[in-house]
Amino acid sequence: MSVEITPEIEGYYEWLFNEIADRVKSAFKIPISDEQIRAAIRIPITEPEIMLMYSYQDAFCVKCGTCCRMCNPIECEKEHFRKIAKSMKLSYKKLKKRTRSRAFKGIVKIPGNPCPFLEGKNHCTIYELRPLICKKYPMAKTISSVIQNGRIFIIDDCPASIGMVRTMIQIRIIAELMEESGIEIPSRYSEEEIEYVESLDTVARLRYFEQKIKTEKRRLSALHLKTEQ
Ligand code: SF4
Ligand code: SF4
Repeated sequence: MSVEITPEIEGYYEWLFNEIADRVKSAFKIPISDEQIRAAIRIPITEPEIMLMYSYQDAFCVKCGTCCRMCNPIECEKEHFRKIAKSMKLSYKKLKKRTRSRAFKGIVKIPGNPCPFLEGKNHCTIYELRPLICKKYPMAKTISSVIQNGRIFIIDDCPASIGMVRTMIQIRIIAELMEESGIEIPSRYSEEEIEYVESLDTVARLRYFEQKIKTEKRRLSALHLKTEQ
């Protein structure tokens, strides 16, 4: 995806650099220059990278509950809302009333700010049945921005988003280092690999990328770099 570098995007890249540079550097045993990080930030994002970030999403969520306090409304399908009501031993109508939700064309809009299913600061009382929009956060927002701008997007009040983007930049730097060292890089995404990944369903994609991360970490050890995030 080609990216037109507007002054706004340029400013964003610099903000992102300031946000992640120190942590990126501390993940490596060898010195990493500012230029290496800036160059890695500017690479347009690819579909496999988006899937890679998806695979990291849960691992990076610190369950701070910020998204649950700020989202409004929370949408889910009527059938799913019914399931939530059933799990709480309530009727659909009663839960709708209790949460002041509105239904329209098969979609229930649950008013947030904060979400009525949030208990305390960060406990989701329906975690196993939380709506898809919650499961997809922050990646859904990230992806919509990628589609609009073709650039890496970070949600600055979401630690998961920051962690995922930082990890992606680290992986890009690792790939560069491997290339310079003449180590074959499986993570340089070829057209064939992208085609293959696109043919997989979501679960298979995640498995594929989890495996890829393991391979990269093994290769990273060969370069005497730290392997933690
Ligand atoms: S704001 Fe981000 S890190 Fe916090 S609970 Fe939501 S997804 Fe997880
Ligand atoms: S349903 Fe759970 S995960 Fe979703 S916003 Fe509410 S408290 Fe957060």
